[in-house]
Amino acid sequence: MLFDFNLQTDINKNYDVCVVGTGPAGITLARKLSETGQKVLLLEAGGLGYSEQSQAFYECETVGHNAWPKFSRLRYFGGTSNHWAGRCRPFDSSDFNPREINGLPGWPIRYSDIKPYLNEAMEILDLDKKMGFQPVNDDLLKTRFSPDAYSNSPPTRFKDKYLSEIESSKNIDCYYNANAIDMRLDTSHQSITHIKVSNYNNFSTTVSAQKFILCLGGIETPRFMLNCKNQIPTGIGNSSDMVGRCFMEHLNVRMGSFLYRDIDNTEGMQFYADDAFVIKNTIGKSNITFGIVRKIKSYGRTKEIKNFFKNIACQMEIEEKIQFISEFKCPGMGNIGTLIEQSPNLDSRISLSKETDSFGLNRTKFDWQINDFDKKTIRKTGQAVAIEFAKANLGSVRLSDFILDETREIEFGRHAHHMGTTRMSESPQYGVVDQNSKVHDLDNLYIAGSSVFSTGGACNPTMPIMQLCLRLVDHLTG
Ligand SMILES: Cc1cc2nc3c(=O)[nH]c(=O)nc-3n(C[C@H](O)[C@H](O)[C@H](O)COP(=O)(O)OP(=O)(O)OC[C@H]3O[C@@H](n4cnc5c(N)ncnc54)[C@H](O)[C@@H]3O)c2cc1C
Repeated sequence: MLFDFNLQTDINKNYDVCVVGTGPAGITLARKLSETGQKVLLLEAGGLGYSEQSQAFYECETVGHNAWPKFSRLRYFGGTSNHWAGRCRPFDSSDFNPREINGLPGWPIRYSDIKPYLNEAMEILDLDKKMGFQPVNDDLLKTRFSPDAYSNSPPTRFKDKYLSEIESSKNIDCYYNANAIDMRLDTSHQSITHIKVSNYNNFSTTVSAQKFILCLGGIETPRFMLNCKNQIPTGIGNSSDMVGRCFMEHLNVRMGSFLYRDIDNTEGMQFYADDAFVIKNTIGKSNITFGIVRKIKSYGRTKEIKNFFKNIACQMEIEEKIQFISEFKCPGMGNIGTLIEQSPNLDSRISLSKETDSFGLNRTKFDWQINDFDKKTIRKTGQAVAIEFAKANLGSVRLSDFILDETREIEFGRHAHHMGTTRMSESPQYGVVDQNSKVHDLDNLYIAGSSVFSTGGACNPTMPIMQLCLRLVDHLTG
C-alpha cells in the first residue's frame, strides 16, 4: 500500500521491519522481506517526483574536496536510481582478501559470501544474464592491465519498475513525504524502539518495529545517526567515533590525453589494473578508459558544438563539456578517464555542521580527503598505463603534469559513489556494522547501501549493494 504522509494523521500498526529510504537498497529490502511474509513499513522522505523542498535537505557544508553532495543523489521515491547511469561491475574476489590499509582492516567477509546473490542482483538491475560481464576490447595491453568487463543496466529506474508492485503489496506499507528525523532507544540503549517521522506540514509521529534498516545512502545514513543525539550526545551507533569516517569516492582523475594510431577505430577502450600490479606496488585498483574522439568530417567542429548544446540540458559536468569544446581534438585523439579506488582514511569524513535544516537537524559537514596512499595509486597507475599503451604500439600518451611532478596538486573529481561511512568490520574499533550489516552497538539496527563498504574496489557500487541487500534478507529471515 502507498500513502502520502502529508495527508495522513498517523501510522498505526506495528511492523516486523521498518526500512528507511526507497533507493535501490530500500526498495529491494522491502520487496524481498515482504515476500517472506514480513510486515514492512517503508519510509521515504521525498515525494513521488523531484521537489526542491525535499532536495534542499541534501545541502551540505563542504570543507574538503567538492563531491557535489547536493546533486550527486536524489531525495524522492526511487532515490538516486532516478538518474544513475547503469554501469555494473561486480567486486573481484581479491577485493575481499584480508589486508590492512592506513591501519584499517579490509572486508570481514569473503567474496564467496556475496557471490550467491549475483544472479538475482543482475535480474533486479535488468542485466543480460546470458551475456554476463563482457570485456569491451581485445587484450590490447599485454601486462599490468586487462580489458575491463562490465554490463550496462538499461538503467533500471526503481520507481518505474517497482512503484505499482509496492502500491499493491499486502505486506508493505510505504509512506512518502515521511522524513525520518530521530531514533529512540530503550532504557538500556541496546535496541531501537521507535523512529520519529515528520511530514512537510509540521506533523510528526513515532513508528515502531522489531527491526530497523537504514538505507539513506552513504552521506545521509551517517548524518541521520549522528543527529540522533537526544539520548546519546555523540549519536546512535557511534561509540567508537566511526560513524561518518572513511568517506570514500571513486576518484575521477583526468590522467591526460592520447593519440591513437588506428584513427578509423572509434571504439573506446577500458582496462582494469591486474591484481599482481596492484599488490606489488601496494596501491588501489583502477579502471582506465581511453575515450576516442569520434572521427570528425568537415564541419565536424560545428557538429560537436551542436551536440554540446543538444546534450547540455541533461549533462552534469558542464564545465568539462566547455573545456572539451575549447580544447578541440583531432580524430584519433582522446582523453584518459579513470575510476580509481580510494583507500579508507579516518580523516575523510562526514560530521555535523552547525547549520541546521527546517527540522532542526544539523546539516552535513562534508570533508572529503585523499591521502598519500591514493596519490601513489593515481601516479603509479597513470605512469604504468602510459608505458603499456606505448609498448603495445597503440599510440602515444601525454600525461597530465601532476602525474609526473609530485610538487603539483592532483586534480580529481568524483563519480557520485558515496562509500565507507558506516563501514563493515569485525571489531567495533574499526567500523560501524558487523559482518551481517548490524550496527555493532545495537541489537536491531541494520544498514544497507555502500556506506557499509569496507573498501570500494574499482567497480560501480550498485551491483554489490544489491548483493549485500539480498544477503541481509537471508540473514534476517533465514
Ligand atoms: C549521476 C549518477 C550516476 C551514477 N551512475 C552509477 C552507475 O553507472 N553505476 C552504479 O553502480 N552506480 C551509479 N551511481 C550511484 C547509484 O545511484 C547509487 O549507488 C545508488 O543509488 C545507491 O542506492 P541507495 O539505495 O543506497 O541510496 P539512494 O539511491 O541515494 O537512496 C536513498 C533514499 O533515502 C531517502 N532518504 C534520505 N533521507 C531520508 C530520511 N531522513 N527519511 C526517509 N528517507 C530518506 C532518499 O530520498 C532516497 O530515496 C550513480 C549516481 C549518480 C548521482
